Amino acid sequence: MAGTEKEQNFDSPQEFTPYEADKGEDYMNESQREHFRAILVQWKRELMEEVDRTMHHMKDEAANFPDPTDRASQESEFSLELRTRDRERKLIRKIDQGIVRVDRDDYGFCETCGMEIGIRRLEARPTATLCVDCKSLDEIRERQLGR
Ligand SMILES: [Zn+2]
Repeated sequence: MAGTEKEQNFDSPQEFTPYEADKGEDYMNESQREHFRAILVQWKRELMEEVDRTMHHMKDEAANFPDPTDRASQESEFSLELRTRDRERKLIRKIDQGIVRVDRDDYGFCETCGMEIGIRRLEARPTATLCVDCKSLDEIRERQLGR
């Protein structure tokens, strides 16, 4: 096990240059929308490549284990993989919805109260559809309902 290998995390977008807004610049003007559109598109591409890579890997592995016992342990490993893929597919869907919102010109505003979500929060979480306040309320409500 090489300890140097850095685990890549696809739950958030990879490197990008944070947006520098000019003084008095309108929130979600054209250049801001372009900025977020580029982040979303790039993030989606990375996720899709990762999904592809794992699918190929799984196919190759399956061919390498003709023995039924080996196969059984392989299968449980695969089902874990599939759950991860499922999560990634859902994330890709969220990213797609974000791109649609950018194109419709309502990206970056809270779905519940209509307030600005904010550039820094969106950069940390480009799929966010709620402002910080509504998100906290949402989480409190979820906790009260129990899981
Ligand atoms: Zn809100």
